[in-house]
Amino acid sequence: MSHPNSEVFGNNDHLNAIFDQLGVAEDVRRRLAQPQQTVQTNVPVRMDDGSLQFFPAWRIRYDDTRGPGKGGIRFHPDVSAEEVTALSFWMTIKCAVVDLPFGGAKGGVCVDPKALSRLELERLSRGYIRAFHDIIGPDRDIPAPDVNTNETIMGWMADEFARIERCQVPAAVTGKPLGLRGSRGRTAATGRGALQVLDLWAERRGKAPKELSVAVQGFGNAGYHFARLAHERGYRIVALSDSKGAIHAADGLDPDPIWRHKHEIRKLKDMVYCCASVCDKAEAGVEQLTNDELLAMDVDVLVLAALEDTITERNVASVNAATILEIANGPVSGAADLLLTDRGVEVLPDVLVNAGGVIVSHLEWVQNRIGDSWSEEKVNQRLAARLAREARLCFEYAEENATTLRTAAYTQAIGRIADAMARQGTREYFDGASG
Ligand code: NAD
Repeated sequence: MSHPNSEVFGNNDHLNAIFDQLGVAEDVRRRLAQPQQTVQTNVPVRMDDGSLQFFPAWRIRYDDTRGPGKGGIRFHPDVSAEEVTALSFWMTIKCAVVDLPFGGAKGGVCVDPKALSRLELERLSRGYIRAFHDIIGPDRDIPAPDVNTNETIMGWMADEFARIERCQVPAAVTGKPLGLRGSRGRTAATGRGALQVLDLWAERRGKAPKELSVAVQGFGNAGYHFARLAHERGYRIVALSDSKGAIHAADGLDPDPIWRHKHEIRKLKDMVYCCASVCDKAEAGVEQLTNDELLAMDVDVLVLAALEDTITERNVASVNAATILEIANGPVSGAADLLLTDRGVEVLPDVLVNAGGVIVSHLEWVQNRIGDSWSEEKVNQRLAARLAREARLCFEYAEENATTLRTAAYTQAIGRIADAMARQGTREYFDGASG
């Protein structure tokens, strides 16, 4: 993955067009062109066989003008400085799109976490916090879960932070288990928010959920909760996939039993990760597909909820869906995005669609700071109210300016970030040209 500012829309021209249209000061453009702080280290982990291994790890705070950095920590063998930089840039945009008082950050460890024992994984998670303790905290930068890091891992990380501080600091990490002052509604928040954006889109296009067929790539935390709630709402979930393969049923699938089956095995083995697949539950009327076949399905909505760069110039021609819902971060490359727009395929963008997770992370941070714990109903209401308000602004901007929803979301975010930066002082500000 190349630098985010060249990947966001396929080239810098598109981002520059937004800067030009908003009259963004040169200082702001330059500040947004690179991360504020990049820290890389190698986290030492004592393995179960007694040997010492080192895992390359990053924490990148892209920009904190609008508030402390916020962003997940990813454990994956493909994690690199470039990937973490791109993800931290998207977090900066996402927090501003939905007007949270946060900047953007991200972390990652280059590791195959499924090859570690539970204790090795715990030592790595605690080691990550020891390595980056100085630059994280409730007013600096607040980590959260991402791919292959879940509430169990956030619990270990929050505990390690508290041990170093010698006092409880729950607002230092979000996505924690409920027992460690996590928030109700956090686990389902990304999927719930994504469904809300899809509902808004369907309403504006005059489509009823029951008319729409949906294929979901990536049946993990975000993809499962989206699929479960969308099925309840009446959308027809015709296909699901995970890293091992895909399943298809023209009449529709019920995501819940498939998820429960996947997770029964994990619980039986007391594992942190799920090792079963959607493909393990063979049933009459359910056909097996390859992951590429799912991406090429002729459906109303293709949901991308796995990893970045799923649709690129390599496979964009095979996409037959009318609309794409980006739950993953950056699942459509910049070049593919332009080609899809030319073909009239609507792409509902990640920085808006998956913002439900960070919105409820913010609510967790607020609850921790005021020493309160809210009902799931209250959390869901607050999530829905913020997303409805901010998504509606994006839809209206896109419709009034005959542009894509991605351009609308970036315009909304960059306008807010640029305004905050200008108030801190830019050359134009001191020259008296603005402010
Ligand atoms: P997860 O690890 O729980 O799930 C990822 C799923 O994708 C797994 O089921 C995995 O098997 C599947 N997968 C991997 N490669 C695949 C492939 N080639 N084809 C099909 N499936 C594949 O992770 P998650 O938390 O659900 O996150 C998924 C995406 O959503 C990531 O891009 C993440 O950054 C983004 N996201 C997640 C949250 C959140 O709160 N969980 C918030 C915002 C964005």
